[in-house]
Amino acid sequence: MKKRTPPNPSIERTLSGKPASASHVKRYVPEMRRLYLNPKSEPLDGRNSSGCDAILPNDSSYPTCRLCGQKQLLFLQFAVPVELGLPIAAESQLSIFMCPEHNEIPSFESKAHLKGDYWNGGDGNWAAFLALPGKVRTALGPRILEPVSFEFDEHPANPSYKIAVGGKPEWVQEPEQFVCSCGAKMAFVSQISDSYKFKKLPAAAEQPDSSYRDGYVLFLGNEVFVFACPNQCNTRAIWVTVQN
Ligand SMILES: [Zn+2]
Ligand SMILES: [Zn+2]
Repeated sequence: MKKRTPPNPSIERTLSGKPASASHVKRYVPEMRRLYLNPKSEPLDGRNSSGCDAILPNDSSYPTCRLCGQKQLLFLQFAVPVELGLPIAAESQLSIFMCPEHNEIPSFESKAHLKGDYWNGGDGNWAAFLALPGKVRTALGPRILEPVSFEFDEHPANPSYKIAVGGKPEWVQEPEQFVCSCGAKMAFVSQISDSYKFKKLPAAAEQPDSSYRDGYVLFLGNEVFVFACPNQCNTRAIWVTVQN
């Protein structure tokens, strides 16, 4: 990756006071931090987890696949840490679900301007939620993935297979941007590495089209980028794009 000159904090943080010369007038942009969700040892913490009970917005029913009617599988959920400076309510709970059998990618079309209830479009084989803090309930889903909980860390436990939250997306192809149907520019929230393996329980069926015999992947193992509406105009106002 290309290295960039770090910003000069004395210029970036000129908020008020003496009028600066035109070349020094810069808007203060808080640093966007990036943290990584690393698997941790006991005890299990359901808030940042995979394979545990799902934490859903309290007015949402458990998502099912529109293609087959099965309950979708919770792949990942986490509470958005305040220190990331993301433009969404701190400690909001993000969750990503996909059908255990139907793992098609979210969309082949360009979705720069998302329309209407875009979260109900597509094949209906996946769902994502962003619940406001405290407005949640837990729900049981299929027991397929091994229960794992995560903790936030400055560095990924495995740099090749990581779950990043906050900061800037590391695009594999051209950068993408999305505008929510409410008009707000979608905020980048999380990136999941290409072929990140969510280990399955030994007795669970293998995932169709997975690259692993002992695990499941999201969206056919593409690099996954998760965006959310900063207005949180709907608990489903999340968009996922994939690249490879
Ligand atoms: Zn399905
Ligand atoms: Zn919105």
